[in-house]
Amino acid sequence: MNQARRRIDVTEADALIRARLTGWGTVRVPLDAAQGEILRQAITAERDQPPFDRVTMDGIAIPHATFAAGLRTFRVAGTQGAGSTPAPLPDDRSCVAIMTGAALPPGADTVVPLERIRRDGDSATIEAGYAPAAGQFVHRRASDHRQGATLLSPGTQLGAPEMAILTVGGVDTVEVARRPAITIVSTGDELVDVGQPIAPAQIRSSNDRAIAAALATRGFIDCDRLHLPDDRTVLETALGELLAEQDVLILTGGVSMGEFDYVPQVLLSLGMELVFHKVLQRPGMPLWFGVSPAGKPVFALPGNPVSSLVCLVRYVAPALVAALGATPRPDVVARLDRHVQFEPDLAYFLPVTLSYGADGECLATPKPTNTSGDFVALGGTDGFVELPRGMSDFAPGYTARFYGW
Ligand code: AMP
Ligand code: MG
Repeated sequence: MNQARRRIDVTEADALIRARLTGWGTVRVPLDAAQGEILRQAITAERDQPPFDRVTMDGIAIPHATFAAGLRTFRVAGTQGAGSTPAPLPDDRSCVAIMTGAALPPGADTVVPLERIRRDGDSATIEAGYAPAAGQFVHRRASDHRQGATLLSPGTQLGAPEMAILTVGGVDTVEVARRPAITIVSTGDELVDVGQPIAPAQIRSSNDRAIAAALATRGFIDCDRLHLPDDRTVLETALGELLAEQDVLILTGGVSMGEFDYVPQVLLSLGMELVFHKVLQRPGMPLWFGVSPAGKPVFALPGNPVSSLVCLVRYVAPALVAALGATPRPDVVARLDRHVQFEPDLAYFLPVTLSYGADGECLATPKPTNTSGDFVALGGTDGFVELPRGMSDFAPGYTARFYGW
């Protein structure tokens, strides 16, 4: 049998997809556009952090040695707020009234908080019995990191802390992974979009919306959506044009054995290399994956709504994220909260809701759908667990890989 026509298992399908997704280069974007993206350069510190000896309490800044020698009342030589350049203490019997965030004046090394002093005109007296520790309430220059230190590495996803860290790099643009241009193609003569009149034998097209939402959640926003009929010629022309323009195509429907399931043959007639067709799994057995002559990946997902979304979340989305150069994240796992039996010799993707048990463990409650067309039953579920092929009984407490929608 032709290698690509073998039925393969989930792990092999995943590996074959990942091996063929090599990324789409990088782009330089303004910081405001970088949120959620995958960093593709190292970010180094523009300056020491803190860049100066930073005061962390409102109070007075003193030379601790003078306190240690017995002086309790200091002359207030000036007032120093955050953001201004500090004047040095004129002598070691002086202090400066100082605010949180200010730079410590040269000559001072210790801050005594306001609550511990009595101000009387231009003198400040430290509370009797209070002994400030030398250097207290000063966040020392470079104590967090030095100028030039690596703050962020390529592969980091830019979330809230990282957006703040980028500013410490002092850059106003940043190199991130380029996101591919993706078109989601729904195939099927029966499909009608919302807002259009619908006949009894027709159905609303829903796969494209679920797929677009799952991709948007992972930062692939603005994917195009297109509907094509079960017509060889139309499919061939339209898919040929899309392959020329887009980076990735995600098709649904038309990949099974029916008379109008033209998608695989049309893709082959466009010169695509078939990598695999059919995976030993339920739902989603007819999953098709190939690569165009120009190296562009095409995923043809089964049309059944549960199958198409499961395949998208199990294979397509993680492979796209990995191809951006994202640092791998640990697998998410959950424990079955009840016994599950599944006889067929297939991997089983079982929709679940998640909760936490008394011991803090993440529990998965199965929410099987009626059929792989019963996508309404997915409402309110968190995702699905993957129960491996080769087993048929899964005891309560079985730890399974979890995939969130
Ligand atoms: P197919 O894989 O084309 O044989 O489709 C299998 C089932 O999934 C059929 O009942 C289709 O009507 C349904 N289906 C296919 N595409 C979609 C879609 N975009 N939205 C909702 N259901 C679909
Ligand atoms: Mg169809």
